Amino acid sequence: MIYDNISINNEGALTFANQDVIGLAKKYGTPLYLLDENKIRENCRKYVDAMKANFGDNYAVLYASKANSFKKIYNIVESEGMCADVVSVGEIYTALKAGFSLSKAYFHSNNKTDFDVEFAIENGVGHFVVDNREELEVINKFAAQKGIKQKILLRLTPGIDTHTYEAVNTGKVDSKFGTAIETGQAEEIVKYTLGFENIDLCGFHCHIGSMVFDSDTFIRGAEIMIEFMSLMKQKFGFITRELNLGGGYGVRYVESDPTIDIGANISQVANFIKDLCAKYELNVPMILMEPGRSIVADAGMTLYTVGTVKRITGYKNYVSVDGGMSDNPRYALYESEYTLFNASKINNAATLKCDVVGRCCESGDIIQPNVLLPETERGDILAVCTTGAYNFSMAMNYNRIARPPVVILKDGDSYVAVRRETLEDIIRNDI
Ligand SMILES: *Cc1c(COP(=O)(O)O)cnc(C)c1O
Repeated sequence: MIYDNISINNEGALTFANQDVIGLAKKYGTPLYLLDENKIRENCRKYVDAMKANFGDNYAVLYASKANSFKKIYNIVESEGMCADVVSVGEIYTALKAGFSLSKAYFHSNNKTDFDVEFAIENGVGHFVVDNREELEVINKFAAQKGIKQKILLRLTPGIDTHTYEAVNTGKVDSKFGTAIETGQAEEIVKYTLGFENIDLCGFHCHIGSMVFDSDTFIRGAEIMIEFMSLMKQKFGFITRELNLGGGYGVRYVESDPTIDIGANISQVANFIKDLCAKYELNVPMILMEPGRSIVADAGMTLYTVGTVKRITGYKNYVSVDGGMSDNPRYALYESEYTLFNASKINNAATLKCDVVGRCCESGDIIQPNVLLPETERGDILAVCTTGAYNFSMAMNYNRIARPPVVILKDGDSYVAVRRETLEDIIRNDI
């Protein structure tokens, strides 16, 4: 199977985290998001162990919580020794209410409102990852009011094209995120930042892209950033204490996707960083990484119940499920691939070529086109693999469809971490 937490047991049933998925669908209803807690922890440890082995205590691994944000996940990652990256006051509030220590949070976003900045400072968010000049002025103002020096990193764009899909490619010079090194604007913003009394510039951040499977991308990013660190030391005597290389290691959505040894990759990147810092006579700064997808994606599976099976003779077949782009918009957004199973017919030959589609009033509401399934009928349970990242966090109420619950599987038990939305939830804010 595509991941080691998916298998078929001795009774011939499809299991996820060693639990019978049809039993889970019966118990909790569908659509249903499942999350394998042990897999999340295993993924956290890959990063934490590799960073510790290479950088001693001079590292931090931030869970990029936009991949999947709800209260319980902050407790899980915190207990694994991780910090978090947050991108909105909604994520900050969720972490706060979970009891997560906000001093370990890094606040991203290319457009933080005055309210966002004040809220984050009032609640003791550890670092801001500053995107632009306007933001610096606002941070300085609220930090001065509170009488503190706010720690920040500056987000820079190293100008790398990762050849990944355009919409998830963020390290290029013309990106909406960060300040470009190539144009000289990064240097200007460093100078400008150093002039603020209530801002403590700790270092720099870059995030090159997503679905990265090689170490070249991070090495190239690190090279440009370390050269920049050296330049800032020469120009302004500025010593970089923190260097955040962003997130982005890839995961397997389909069998043909490559696998990646994250630990080995981090070691390669670490060796490169240490050598280059030595060459430039720089102390190795604290190194930060901020993975999202590779922490939670393969810990997730979504279950649906099949409604209609439409066969348009001579054209195509449609299998419609009880969810859709409202719980998984990734095919609609990025044409993302997925691996699907019919859990109810798991031992039958796959002979039905079909598009698996949702129930939203939108032709683009496709979970996955051109899937090969066994002959499928109403009532069957379909499993979509690798949905732990950017599914629940991107879910919406289009067509006033209630969002599914998140159920966590751990050591043979299961519990609801986010309950299913009810019809009352749908009208909760309507006057
Ligand atoms: C999205 C994002 C991440 C996480 O990326 P993944 O591909 O989920 O690992 C990390 N840092 C920043 C700034 C991001 O925008």
